[in-house]
Amino acid sequence: MRLMRYNPTAEYVPGKRLVVADALSRQPQPEPEISELTGDIEALEEAIQEAWPISSTKLDIVKQQTMRDSELQLVKRFVTEGWLKYSAGVPPEVKKYYSVRNHLTTSNELVLYDSRMVIPQCLRGEMLQRIHEGHQGIVKCRTRAKCSMWWPGISKRIQEMVTSCRECQVSQPSRRRETLLTTPLPSHPWEKVAADICELNQENYLVTVDYFSRYIDIAHLKDMSSETTIAKLMNIFARWGCPNELVTDNGPRFMGRAFSQFAKKYDFKHTITSPRYPQVNGEAERAIRTAKTILRQSDPFLALMAYRSTPLQATGVSPAQLMFGRQIPTTVPTLETSLLGQIRSRLSRRITEPN
Ligand SMILES: [Zn+2]
Repeated sequence: MRLMRYNPTAEYVPGKRLVVADALSRQPQPEPEISELTGDIEALEEAIQEAWPISSTKLDIVKQQTMRDSELQLVKRFVTEGWLKYSAGVPPEVKKYYSVRNHLTTSNELVLYDSRMVIPQCLRGEMLQRIHEGHQGIVKCRTRAKCSMWWPGISKRIQEMVTSCRECQVSQPSRRRETLLTTPLPSHPWEKVAADICELNQENYLVTVDYFSRYIDIAHLKDMSSETTIAKLMNIFARWGCPNELVTDNGPRFMGRAFSQFAKKYDFKHTITSPRYPQVNGEAERAIRTAKTILRQSDPFLALMAYRSTPLQATGVSPAQLMFGRQIPTTVPTLETSLLGQIRSRLSRRITEPN
């Protein structure tokens, strides 16, 4: 995407004949013809907009406000007409964009930072609030923003917002040492699932977590009987299918005849972790901690949605993406990670197809 503004020609030269390695930078081609690039730019725009699980009305608001934002209009002019060689001559309100000028492009009415929308001034406060939904702390809020939006100083604004938020401070998991486990990663979603009980404010919840995607489900339990737990698991299995393996502790609701019959009927292997080595069920323990921070919030559903749609540090993609192969639309406009792949395939198609 960043190379699209140039018009390079790739040519193979064996290493031994490369006298000056950086010849490319010393023999620039003449300016690309805009008409040559139009097709590629259209493909890029199309791909970006298709990949946004953002309703067109949400996108229209960003477009409209971008058009009304004098700062972004000025940025747009520099992007299309070319930046000055030195920042000295750049108007003060646009200076903060100068250092990232190589990342900026325009698409229709939007200004883009790589594949993220540059949010106009008047929408920044609202977008910050949306990123903050779920109170997931600085790292995850930044990850959420990175999926889809940018403006100068966004990182600092997120930091200020989170450090001044009581709920975020409370929900920060304590930095206890986590036992590293070499549990082999299952090959696909919902193959191996852990279930555990989470107790909060005298209420009990069944928490399930998928080992592959870390997708979490939470169900309220009206009592602690085995029947109630089984009924909730049936409900969850109806939605996501039967796992190959269900991992639980040896709590009474997971033991006994009813549960083994349930395992037989729904055809899953029931693995019981030893109470002497509770850390073996580390995945479930982590999920319980996450579930508790979710359940403590004023809107646990929105918090659960935020958790499921925020990329995990380990994989760079969200539980929802691993589970469904797509991002779930939330209040935060988000880009699919498959976007670059889509663009690449579209562009290569255009390049290989004879005109
Ligand atoms: Zn917060």
